[in-house]
Amino acid sequence: MSGILVIAEHRRGELRPVSLELIAGAESLKASGGGPLTVALVGPAPDVFVNALKVAGVDEIITVAAGTGDFDPDTQAAAVSAVIAARSPSLVLIPHSVDAFGYAAVLAAQGGYGFATDVFKIEFDQGSWVATRGGYGQKVNVELDFPAKAVVLLTVRAAVYKPAEGSSNPTVTALPVPGASVHVRPGEYVEMSQADDVDMTAAEFIMSIGRGIGEEARIPQFRELADAMGATLGCSRPIADSGWLPKSRQVGQSGKTASACKLYIAMGISGAIQHLAGMKHVSTIVAVNADPGASIFSVAKYGIVGDIMEFGEELKTHF
Ligand SMILES: Cc1cc2nc3c(=O)[nH]c(=O)nc-3n(C[C@H](O)[C@H](O)[C@H](O)COP(=O)(O)OP(=O)(O)OC[C@H]3O[C@@H](n4cnc5c(N)ncnc54)[C@H](O)[C@@H]3O)c2cc1C
Repeated sequence: MSGILVIAEHRRGELRPVSLELIAGAESLKASGGGPLTVALVGPAPDVFVNALKVAGVDEIITVAAGTGDFDPDTQAAAVSAVIAARSPSLVLIPHSVDAFGYAAVLAAQGGYGFATDVFKIEFDQGSWVATRGGYGQKVNVELDFPAKAVVLLTVRAAVYKPAEGSSNPTVTALPVPGASVHVRPGEYVEMSQADDVDMTAAEFIMSIGRGIGEEARIPQFRELADAMGATLGCSRPIADSGWLPKSRQVGQSGKTASACKLYIAMGISGAIQHLAGMKHVSTIVAVNADPGASIFSVAKYGIVGDIMEFGEELKTHF
Protein backbone atom coordinates (compact mmCIF):
# COMPACT_ATOMS: atom_id res chain seq x y z
CA MET A 1 0.00 0.00 0.00
CA SER A 2 1.49 3.34 -0.97
CA GLY A 3 0.44 6.68 -2.33
CA ILE A 4 -2.31 9.13 -1.52
CA LEU A 5 -5.79 9.17 -3.03
CA VAL A 6 -7.89 12.35 -2.96
CA ILE A 7 -11.60 12.10 -3.66
CA ALA A 8 -12.66 15.26 -5.49
CA GLU A 9 -16.15 16.57 -4.83
CA HIS A 10 -18.64 18.35 -7.06
CA ARG A 11 -22.13 19.63 -6.46
CA ARG A 12 -24.73 20.93 -8.90
CA GLY A 13 -22.28 20.99 -11.78
CA GLU A 14 -19.47 22.80 -9.92
CA LEU A 15 -16.18 21.38 -8.66
CA ARG A 16 -16.06 22.18 -4.94
CA PRO A 17 -12.97 24.28 -3.95
CA VAL A 18 -12.19 21.86 -1.10
CA SER A 19 -11.09 19.35 -3.78
CA LEU A 20 -8.11 21.57 -4.66
CA GLU A 21 -7.39 22.18 -0.97
CA LEU A 22 -7.10 18.44 -0.31
CA ILE A 23 -4.85 18.03 -3.32
CA ALA A 24 -2.55 20.73 -1.85
CA GLY A 25 -2.58 18.89 1.49
CA ALA A 26 -1.78 15.58 -0.19
CA GLU A 27 1.01 17.20 -2.19
CA SER A 28 2.61 18.51 1.00
CA LEU A 29 2.54 14.96 2.43
CA LYS A 30 3.99 13.25 -0.64
CA ALA A 31 7.59 13.85 0.37
CA SER A 32 7.17 12.19 3.79
CA GLY A 33 4.38 9.67 3.18
CA GLY A 34 5.23 8.73 -0.39
CA GLY A 35 3.48 9.12 -3.72
CA PRO A 36 1.92 8.82 -6.16
CA LEU A 37 -0.90 11.32 -5.73
CA THR A 38 -4.08 10.13 -7.40
CA VAL A 39 -7.29 12.14 -7.64
CA ALA A 40 -10.57 10.33 -8.24
CA LEU A 41 -13.82 11.83 -9.36
CA VAL A 42 -17.17 10.04 -9.50
CA GLY A 43 -20.18 11.37 -11.42
CA PRO A 44 -22.30 10.98 -14.51
CA ALA A 45 -19.87 13.05 -16.64
CA PRO A 46 -16.63 13.30 -14.60
CA ASP A 47 -14.50 14.28 -17.61
CA VAL A 48 -15.74 17.88 -17.44
CA PHE A 49 -13.69 18.44 -14.28
CA VAL A 50 -10.47 16.77 -15.42
CA ASN A 51 -8.71 19.93 -16.62
CA ALA A 52 -9.47 21.77 -13.37
CA LEU A 53 -7.79 18.93 -11.44
CA LYS A 54 -4.51 19.04 -13.40
CA VAL A 55 -2.79 21.06 -10.69
CA ALA A 56 0.68 20.77 -9.16
CA GLY A 57 1.53 17.40 -7.67
CA VAL A 58 -1.19 15.29 -9.30
CA ASP A 59 0.20 12.10 -10.88
CA GLU A 60 -3.05 10.45 -12.00
CA ILE A 61 -6.71 11.38 -12.35
CA ILE A 62 -9.20 8.53 -12.25
CA THR A 63 -12.69 9.18 -13.53
CA VAL A 64 -15.57 6.90 -12.66
CA ALA A 65 -18.66 7.50 -14.79
CA ALA A 66 -21.45 6.51 -12.44
CA GLY A 67 -24.60 7.84 -10.84
CA THR A 68 -26.90 10.64 -11.81
CA GLY A 69 -26.56 14.39 -11.29
CA ASP A 70 -27.59 14.00 -7.64
CA PHE A 71 -25.14 12.64 -5.11
CA ASP A 72 -25.94 9.13 -4.01
CA PRO A 73 -23.92 7.52 -1.23
CA ASP A 74 -24.24 3.90 -2.46
CA THR A 75 -22.82 4.70 -5.90
CA GLN A 76 -20.10 6.86 -4.37
CA ALA A 77 -19.08 4.17 -1.84
CA ALA A 78 -18.94 1.45 -4.53
CA ALA A 79 -16.90 3.66 -6.85
CA VAL A 80 -14.41 4.86 -4.22
CA SER A 81 -14.03 1.30 -2.93
CA ALA A 82 -13.18 0.16 -6.48
CA VAL A 83 -10.60 2.95 -6.87
CA ILE A 84 -8.98 1.99 -3.55
CA ALA A 85 -8.85 -1.66 -4.65
CA ALA A 86 -7.31 -0.66 -7.99
CA ARG A 87 -4.59 1.68 -6.65
CA SER A 88 -3.95 0.48 -3.04
CA PRO A 89 -3.21 3.91 -1.50
CA SER A 90 -2.06 4.07 2.13
CA LEU A 91 -3.99 7.33 2.68
CA VAL A 92 -7.40 8.38 1.32
CA LEU A 93 -8.55 11.99 1.79
CA ILE A 94 -12.24 12.90 1.47
CA PRO A 95 -13.71 16.39 2.04
CA HIS A 96 -15.48 16.57 5.42
CA SER A 97 -18.83 17.45 3.93
CA VAL A 98 -22.45 16.43 3.95
CA ASP A 99 -21.63 14.00 1.11
CA ALA A 100 -18.94 12.30 3.19
CA PHE A 101 -21.40 11.85 6.08
CA GLY A 102 -23.35 9.54 3.78
CA TYR A 103 -20.62 7.11 2.76
CA ALA A 104 -17.19 7.57 4.38
CA ALA A 105 -17.88 5.68 7.62
CA VAL A 106 -19.57 2.80 5.79
CA LEU A 107 -16.69 2.54 3.36
CA ALA A 108 -14.12 2.51 6.18
CA ALA A 109 -16.04 -0.09 8.17
CA GLN A 110 -16.53 -2.37 5.16
CA GLY A 111 -12.89 -2.09 4.08
CA GLY A 112 -11.46 -2.36 7.61
CA TYR A 113 -9.60 0.93 7.10
CA GLY A 114 -8.28 3.26 9.78
CA PHE A 115 -10.77 6.14 9.98
CA ALA A 116 -11.11 9.64 11.43
CA THR A 117 -13.42 12.55 10.62
CA ASP A 118 -13.12 16.34 10.67
CA VAL A 119 -9.33 16.15 10.60
CA PHE A 120 -7.37 19.42 10.42
CA LYS A 121 -3.78 18.20 10.56
CA ILE A 122 -2.08 15.18 9.00
CA GLU A 123 1.48 13.99 9.51
CA PHE A 124 3.55 10.97 8.57
CA ASP A 125 5.50 9.98 11.68
CA GLN A 126 7.82 6.97 11.96
CA GLY A 127 6.17 5.14 9.12
CA SER A 128 2.56 5.81 10.17
CA TRP A 129 -0.15 8.35 9.41
CA VAL A 130 -1.15 10.55 12.34
CA ALA A 131 -4.35 12.64 12.17
CA THR A 132 -5.33 15.50 14.48
CA ARG A 133 -8.95 16.40 15.19
CA GLY A 134 -10.82 18.13 17.99
CA GLY A 135 -12.23 16.27 20.96
CA TYR A 136 -14.58 17.02 23.84
CA GLY A 137 -16.48 19.67 21.87
CA GLN A 138 -13.26 21.02 20.27
CA LYS A 139 -11.77 21.77 23.69
CA VAL A 140 -8.74 19.54 23.18
CA ASN A 141 -6.74 18.33 20.21
CA VAL A 142 -6.64 14.58 19.76
CA GLU A 143 -3.84 12.89 17.82
CA LEU A 144 -4.83 9.56 16.32
CA ASP A 145 -2.71 6.86 14.81
CA PHE A 146 -3.95 3.71 13.14
CA PRO A 147 -1.86 0.68 14.18
CA ALA A 148 -1.82 -2.21 11.70
CA LYS A 149 -4.11 -0.42 9.24
CA ALA A 150 -2.85 -0.66 5.65
CA VAL A 151 -5.31 2.01 4.47
CA VAL A 152 -6.25 5.12 6.45
CA LEU A 153 -9.32 7.10 5.35
CA LEU A 154 -9.72 10.64 6.66
CA THR A 155 -12.43 13.23 6.11
CA VAL A 156 -10.63 16.57 6.12
CA ARG A 157 -12.03 19.94 7.14
CA ALA A 158 -12.33 22.65 4.46
CA ALA A 159 -10.04 25.70 4.45
CA VAL A 160 -7.18 23.91 6.23
CA TYR A 161 -4.98 24.00 3.13
CA LYS A 162 -4.69 26.71 0.50
CA PRO A 163 -6.06 25.44 -2.85
CA ALA A 164 -3.49 23.77 -5.09
CA GLU A 165 -2.29 25.87 -7.99
CA GLY A 166 0.12 25.40 -10.88
CA SER A 167 -0.22 22.66 -13.43
CA SER A 168 0.68 19.03 -14.00
CA ASN A 169 0.39 16.49 -16.76
CA PRO A 170 -1.20 13.50 -15.02
CA THR A 171 -2.29 10.24 -16.58
CA VAL A 172 -6.07 10.21 -16.96
CA THR A 173 -7.73 6.81 -16.48
CA ALA A 174 -11.40 5.94 -16.85
CA LEU A 175 -12.20 3.16 -14.38
CA PRO A 176 -15.26 1.04 -15.14
CA VAL A 177 -17.18 0.19 -11.97
CA PRO A 178 -20.20 -2.15 -11.84
CA GLY A 179 -23.43 -0.37 -10.85
CA ALA A 180 -24.21 -0.30 -7.13
CA SER A 181 -27.59 -1.15 -5.71
CA VAL A 182 -28.98 2.22 -4.71
CA HIS A 183 -30.91 2.50 -1.46
CA VAL A 184 -31.12 6.27 -1.17
CA ARG A 185 -33.12 8.31 -3.64
CA PRO A 186 -32.62 12.06 -3.34
CA GLY A 187 -35.76 14.16 -3.12
CA GLU A 188 -35.80 17.90 -3.49
CA TYR A 189 -32.63 20.00 -3.16
CA VAL A 190 -33.30 22.63 -0.50
CA GLU A 191 -30.90 25.51 0.09
CA MET A 192 -30.59 26.04 3.86
CA SER A 193 -31.14 29.62 4.95
CA GLN A 194 -28.55 30.79 7.44
CA ALA A 195 -29.13 33.26 10.23
CA ASP A 196 -25.64 34.65 9.68
CA ASP A 197 -24.45 33.87 6.21
CA VAL A 198 -21.01 35.46 6.47
CA ASP A 199 -18.19 33.48 4.89
CA MET A 200 -15.04 34.25 6.88
CA THR A 201 -12.96 32.08 4.55
CA ALA A 202 -13.78 34.38 1.60
CA ALA A 203 -13.39 37.75 3.39
CA GLU A 204 -10.42 39.81 2.19
CA PHE A 205 -10.47 42.37 5.02
CA ILE A 206 -11.32 41.20 8.54
CA MET A 207 -11.47 43.12 11.80
CA SER A 208 -11.67 40.64 14.67
CA ILE A 209 -12.51 41.42 18.26
CA GLY A 210 -11.42 39.47 21.32
CA ARG A 211 -12.08 39.38 25.05
CA GLY A 212 -10.41 42.79 25.26
CA ILE A 213 -13.73 44.40 24.33
CA GLY A 214 -14.83 43.62 27.87
CA GLU A 215 -18.59 43.52 27.53
CA GLU A 216 -21.30 42.53 25.06
CA ALA A 217 -22.76 46.02 24.96
CA ARG A 218 -19.70 47.15 23.00
CA ILE A 219 -20.32 44.75 20.10
CA PRO A 220 -22.56 47.17 18.10
CA GLN A 221 -19.94 49.90 17.99
CA PHE A 222 -17.32 47.47 16.62
CA ARG A 223 -19.89 46.15 14.13
CA GLU A 224 -20.53 49.73 12.95
CA LEU A 225 -16.82 50.41 12.71
CA ALA A 226 -16.25 47.24 10.65
CA ASP A 227 -19.14 48.16 8.33
CA ALA A 228 -17.83 51.72 7.91
CA MET A 229 -14.36 50.43 7.03
CA GLY A 230 -15.70 47.74 4.68
CA ALA A 231 -14.32 44.98 6.91
CA THR A 232 -15.95 41.69 7.87
CA LEU A 233 -16.33 41.44 11.64
CA GLY A 234 -14.68 38.33 13.10
CA CYS A 235 -13.90 37.26 16.64
CA SER A 236 -11.89 35.03 18.92
CA ARG A 237 -13.45 31.98 20.53
CA PRO A 238 -14.50 33.48 23.89
CA ILE A 239 -16.67 35.99 22.02
CA ALA A 240 -18.42 33.21 20.06
CA ASP A 241 -18.63 30.94 23.10
CA SER A 242 -20.36 33.75 25.02
CA GLY A 243 -22.87 34.07 22.20
CA TRP A 244 -21.88 37.70 21.58
CA LEU A 245 -21.24 36.90 17.89
CA PRO A 246 -22.27 33.79 15.92
CA LYS A 247 -19.86 30.86 15.80
CA SER A 248 -19.58 31.37 12.03
CA ARG A 249 -17.48 34.48 12.75
CA GLN A 250 -14.92 32.74 14.97
CA VAL A 251 -11.44 32.64 13.50
CA GLY A 252 -9.02 29.91 14.51
CA GLN A 253 -8.44 26.24 14.88
CA SER A 254 -11.98 25.35 15.92
CA GLY A 255 -13.44 28.18 13.88
CA LYS A 256 -12.77 29.47 10.39
CA THR A 257 -9.53 30.03 8.53
CA ALA A 258 -9.15 33.50 7.06
CA SER A 259 -8.07 31.92 3.76
CA ALA A 260 -8.66 34.85 1.42
CA CYS A 261 -7.77 37.59 3.90
CA LYS A 262 -5.18 40.21 2.97
CA LEU A 263 -5.66 42.61 5.90
CA TYR A 264 -6.49 41.41 9.43
CA ILE A 265 -6.98 43.81 12.33
CA ALA A 266 -6.92 42.01 15.70
CA MET A 267 -8.54 44.11 18.44
CA GLY A 268 -8.02 42.97 22.03
CA ILE A 269 -6.94 39.45 21.04
CA SER A 270 -4.03 37.93 22.97
CA GLY A 271 -2.76 35.69 20.12
CA ALA A 272 -3.30 32.19 21.52
CA ILE A 273 -1.93 29.53 19.22
CA GLN A 274 -5.45 28.33 18.40
CA HIS A 275 -6.44 31.80 17.17
CA LEU A 276 -3.21 32.22 15.22
CA ALA A 277 -3.97 28.93 13.39
CA GLY A 278 -6.73 30.72 11.51
CA MET A 279 -4.98 34.00 10.62
CA LYS A 280 -1.20 34.02 11.08
CA HIS A 281 -0.65 33.47 7.33
CA VAL A 282 -2.34 36.81 6.46
CA SER A 283 0.20 39.12 4.82
CA THR A 284 -0.81 42.28 6.68
CA ILE A 285 -1.81 41.87 10.32
CA VAL A 286 -2.43 44.89 12.52
CA ALA A 287 -2.71 44.15 16.24
CA VAL A 288 -4.10 46.48 18.89
CA ASN A 289 -3.54 45.34 22.47
CA ALA A 290 -2.99 47.00 25.83
CA ASP A 291 -0.31 44.46 26.75
CA PRO A 292 3.03 45.04 24.97
CA GLY A 293 3.94 41.41 25.68
CA ALA A 294 0.85 39.95 23.98
CA SER A 295 1.72 37.06 21.60
CA ILE A 296 -0.36 38.59 18.82
CA PHE A 297 2.48 41.06 18.25
CA SER A 298 4.75 38.17 17.20
CA VAL A 299 2.72 37.73 13.97
CA ALA A 300 1.66 41.37 13.48
CA LYS A 301 3.25 43.53 10.80
CA TYR A 302 2.05 46.64 12.63
CA GLY A 303 1.36 46.78 16.36
CA ILE A 304 -0.40 49.39 18.47
CA VAL A 305 0.00 49.17 22.24
CA GLY A 306 -3.10 50.85 23.53
CA ASP A 307 -6.77 50.73 24.39
CA ILE A 308 -9.03 49.31 21.65
CA MET A 309 -11.90 51.57 22.72
CA GLU A 310 -9.75 54.65 22.24
CA PHE A 311 -8.29 53.34 18.96
CA GLY A 312 -11.77 52.40 17.72
CA GLU A 313 -13.05 55.95 18.40
CA GLU A 314 -10.07 57.41 16.59
CA LEU A 315 -10.56 55.13 13.56
CA LYS A 316 -14.26 56.01 13.39
CA THR A 317 -13.49 59.66 12.78
CA HIS A 318 -11.78 58.69 9.51
CA PHE A 319 -14.73 56.80 7.97
C1 LIG B 1 -8.91 22.92 21.27
C2 LIG B 1 -9.01 24.42 21.35
C3 LIG B 1 -9.46 25.08 20.24
C4 LIG B 1 -9.55 26.50 20.27
N1 LIG B 1 -9.95 27.14 19.14
C5 LIG B 1 -9.95 28.49 19.12
C6 LIG B 1 -10.29 29.21 17.93
O1 LIG B 1 -10.68 28.64 16.91
N2 LIG B 1 -10.23 30.56 17.98
C7 LIG B 1 -9.83 31.26 19.08
O2 LIG B 1 -9.79 32.50 19.03
N3 LIG B 1 -9.52 30.61 20.22
C8 LIG B 1 -9.58 29.25 20.27
N4 LIG B 1 -9.29 28.61 21.43
C9 LIG B 1 -9.13 29.42 22.65
C10 LIG B 1 -7.75 30.03 22.79
O3 LIG B 1 -6.90 29.12 23.47
C11 LIG B 1 -7.81 31.34 23.61
O4 LIG B 1 -8.40 31.07 24.86
C12 LIG B 1 -8.57 32.44 22.91
O5 LIG B 1 -8.10 32.63 21.60
C13 LIG B 1 -8.39 33.74 23.70
O6 LIG B 1 -9.21 34.71 23.15
P1 LIG B 1 -8.86 36.27 23.33
O7 LIG B 1 -7.52 36.54 22.75
O8 LIG B 1 -10.01 37.03 22.82
O9 LIG B 1 -8.89 36.42 24.92
P2 LIG B 1 -7.70 36.65 25.96
O10 LIG B 1 -6.67 35.60 25.82
O11 LIG B 1 -8.33 36.81 27.28
O12 LIG B 1 -7.04 38.01 25.51
C14 LIG B 1 -7.64 39.25 25.64
C15 LIG B 1 -6.60 40.27 25.23
O13 LIG B 1 -7.17 41.55 25.23
C16 LIG B 1 -6.24 42.49 25.72
N5 LIG B 1 -7.01 43.61 26.25
C17 LIG B 1 -7.84 43.65 27.34
N6 LIG B 1 -8.44 44.85 27.45
C18 LIG B 1 -7.97 45.59 26.40
C19 LIG B 1 -8.22 46.92 25.96
N7 LIG B 1 -9.11 47.72 26.56
N8 LIG B 1 -7.55 47.37 24.87
C20 LIG B 1 -6.67 46.59 24.23
N9 LIG B 1 -6.41 45.30 24.60
C21 LIG B 1 -7.05 44.83 25.67
C22 LIG B 1 -5.46 41.73 26.77
O14 LIG B 1 -4.18 42.32 26.96
C23 LIG B 1 -5.38 40.34 26.15
O15 LIG B 1 -4.20 40.19 25.40
C24 LIG B 1 -9.21 27.22 21.42
C25 LIG B 1 -8.76 26.52 22.55
C26 LIG B 1 -8.67 25.15 22.51
C27 LIG B 1 -8.18 24.42 23.73
